[in-house]
Amino acid sequence: MKACTWLGGGDFEYGDVPDPVIGPDDVMVRIGTVGVCGTDVHITQGLFPSTPPQILGHEASGEIIDVGQNVSRERIGESVVLNHTTTCGECESCRTWTVSRCERSTQKHEFFAELASVPNASAVPIPEGLDVEVASITEPASCCLSGVSRLRVDDGAVGLVIGGGMMGLMTAAFMKTSGVETVALTEPVGYRRDFATQLGIDVVHDPSQSSVDDFVADLTNGRGLHIAAEAVGKAELVAKCVELVRPRGQVLMIGVAPAGAPLPVDLYDMQYREVVLQSGFGRGDVFNRTPAELAKLNMDGVITGRYELKDVPQAIIDSGEGKGVKLVIKPNR
Ligand SMILES: [Zn+2]
Ligand SMILES: [Zn+2]
Repeated sequence: MKACTWLGGGDFEYGDVPDPVIGPDDVMVRIGTVGVCGTDVHITQGLFPSTPPQILGHEASGEIIDVGQNVSRERIGESVVLNHTTTCGECESCRTWTVSRCERSTQKHEFFAELASVPNASAVPIPEGLDVEVASITEPASCCLSGVSRLRVDDGAVGLVIGGGMMGLMTAAFMKTSGVETVALTEPVGYRRDFATQLGIDVVHDPSQSSVDDFVADLTNGRGLHIAAEAVGKAELVAKCVELVRPRGQVLMIGVAPAGAPLPVDLYDMQYREVVLQSGFGRGDVFNRTPAELAKLNMDGVITGRYELKDVPQAIIDSGEGKGVKLVIKPNR
């Protein structure tokens, strides 16, 4: 098969590699769509630990074209989204904590390729009403849904998301579907604000036009937010969220701050106002139900760039420059 192998830094090699081996409990998937993620960008920039050579790409959907001997042949032809981590469901962590901390988990994420072999349980069916291409967003969306599912939602809650990239948009959309009455999003790029409106976000704010402090004061009659989510990955914006919430308000960290980043907040103020700091990392326990949640949203137009497999390096550069909403690779186009 053809694949695009990362060699370190910004270097990739496009060419033939051996087909993946299909084990007795695996399915073979022809990759239709694989998303370019901020993590891929960070890996090529040396900001996320990873060792070359390897095939990157961990947000994929496609079609099952073959199955191992222990898997029902009825799955052949099924459209699926791939969970890059397999969990046992039986260990102490899975039973009492979260499957995302499974002690026997195995990872498989080499999806910038024409084919992938994954454990049967990691190939999750795509429900009716969800476009197969859009379903490739399941992995990043599940991280947002997992974070939102950790929030307490009060009656009449007002929430704000800072940052309208893919993660911010999904976090805001799931806050809305989780019952937060008024959801706002602040983002400087116009078409991302427009997409937020399409997703059902109630109010959008352009931080180049007025300060977020004034915006929140207007939105909440000076009382502050019930929930403020940071989806950029900057410590100072998490600190801003702490300032913007009302007493007993909740701050949700979705953006990934660099390792070693300190949080510049006044702890006295945080304690005095009983602010809750909450974080979401990874898919938690919600991956399998995320496709059905995505199907409830109007995701038309979320994919703003499609690239051939050989153009993975360019797609990663474009994604790093913040072009579009979601860029994807089409390995079998
Ligand atoms: Zn990702
Ligand atoms: Zn486990």
